Amino acid sequence: MAESMDAAGRALAGTRFIPLSVPEIRGNEWRYVKECLDTNWVSSAGPFVDRFESEVARYLGARHAVATTSGTAALHVALLVAGVRPDDEVLVPTLTFVAPANAVRYVRAWPVFVDVESTSWQMDPTKVWDFLQKECYWRAGVLRNRRTDRRIAALLPAHILGHSCDMDPLREAARRFDLPVIEDASEGLGAVYQGVQVGHLGKVACLSFNGNKIITTGGGGMIVTDDEAWATRARHLTTQAKDDPVEFIHSEIGFNYRLTNVQAALGCAQLEQLPAYIRKKRQLAEEYRSVLNGVPGLTPMLEIPWGFSTFWMYTVLVDANDYGEDSRKLLRRLAGKGIETRPLWQPLHLSPAHSGNQAYFCEVAERLNRDALSLPCSVGLTGEDQREVIEALLEGQRFCVRSAL
Ligand SMILES: *Cc1c(COP(=O)(O)O)cnc(C)c1O
Repeated sequence: MAESMDAAGRALAGTRFIPLSVPEIRGNEWRYVKECLDTNWVSSAGPFVDRFESEVARYLGARHAVATTSGTAALHVALLVAGVRPDDEVLVPTLTFVAPANAVRYVRAWPVFVDVESTSWQMDPTKVWDFLQKECYWRAGVLRNRRTDRRIAALLPAHILGHSCDMDPLREAARRFDLPVIEDASEGLGAVYQGVQVGHLGKVACLSFNGNKIITTGGGGMIVTDDEAWATRARHLTTQAKDDPVEFIHSEIGFNYRLTNVQAALGCAQLEQLPAYIRKKRQLAEEYRSVLNGVPGLTPMLEIPWGFSTFWMYTVLVDANDYGEDSRKLLRRLAGKGIETRPLWQPLHLSPAHSGNQAYFCEVAERLNRDALSLPCSVGLTGEDQREVIEALLEGQRFCVRSAL
C-alpha cells in the first residue's frame, strides 16, 4: 500500500513516524541472550526453552506448555493433537488473522466461518449455537454439517485485540456437541475471562510471540494444555516425531517446529515485563477512550463485560457519516502525518485464499472490517506521541464541520 510505503519511507528518512505497534525490549533480554551465546546453547535444546515453557504454563495456570517456532505452527500441531482429520470441519471466526484458517487447511480439514458479535467483536456464541443446532445433525455418534456431510471436529475461537471471547456459552456448546475447544490465544495473552487466564479456557490453547504481539521472541509460539497425553504428543510432533534419538527412528511424519534457546531467552525476559506492558497498554487505552468518547463518529474500543482486557491493539470504529471521513480516508490522512494505523483483517470468508468455504451470517465482520481502524499503541508510545495521534483524530471533526457548512 502506498501509505505504508510512505510510513516506511519516513521511518528510513528519520522523519517523524509513529508506528502502529513495535516491540519493547528493555529488560533482561541482552543478559539472557548473551548467556546463550556464552554457553553455546543457541539451538532448540537448552535451559531457556524449558524455563520459558514452565513460566508460561505457570502464568496461565496450566500444566503443560510446548514452545514452537510460531503461533501458526502451534495451531497446526494443536489441530493434529485434537484429532482433526482430512475432510473434517472446524468452526473459526471470520474476523481474525488468517493463521487459524490456514492451519485448518494444513491438516486438510475445512474451516466454517462464523460471524463475530457486534459489541465485543469476538466470535459470536449465539451464531455458533445456531449453526450447530440448525445446520448440523448426528449420524452414528458423529456430528455432521447438513450442507457438506462432513464431520464437525472442533471449535476454534480466536480471542482478538487483547480481549477474550465469551467462553462460557462457547464451552457449553462444545460440551453439548462433544467438540474440543482449541483457543487461538495469540492476541489474548494476559487477558482474563471470569477470573481465568485466556489460554487456559479450552482443551488446548495456542500462543504467538511474533514481533507485533504483547511479548515477543522475534518469532515463536506455544501450545498449552492440561492434558499430559496431548502435551506429549505435541512435543513429539514438533520435534520430527523422533521415537529413538540415537537410531533416528520416526514412526510418523513430524515437523521441525521447536523454538530455539536464543528465542526462548528473549521470551523469558519479555515475560518478566508482561504485567508492566499490560498496565501500559491499558493506560494508553484509557487515554484514547477518555478523549475519543466525545468525538462524533468515533466509537472507542470498550472493555468486554466478562473479563479483563489487555487492549493489545487499540481499535476504534469510524462512522463515515458522523465523523466526515471513512476509516480508509482517515488512514491515509494520518499516514500523511507519519502516523501508522491499520484496518482489521479482511474477513476470512471474503479472502481469496479461503472464500470457497461456508460462511455463517458474517455481516457484522464485514461492517467492522469497513469501519475499524487500529491506532498506535506500542508499549513504548510516549505521551507526546499519543497526544499527536489524538490531535490528528480531533482535526477530523473540523473536516466534518467544514463539509457540513
Ligand atoms: C499472530 C497471530 C497468530 C499466529 O501468528 P504467528 O505469526 O504464526 O506467530 C495466530 N492467530 C492470530 C489471531 C494472530 O494474531
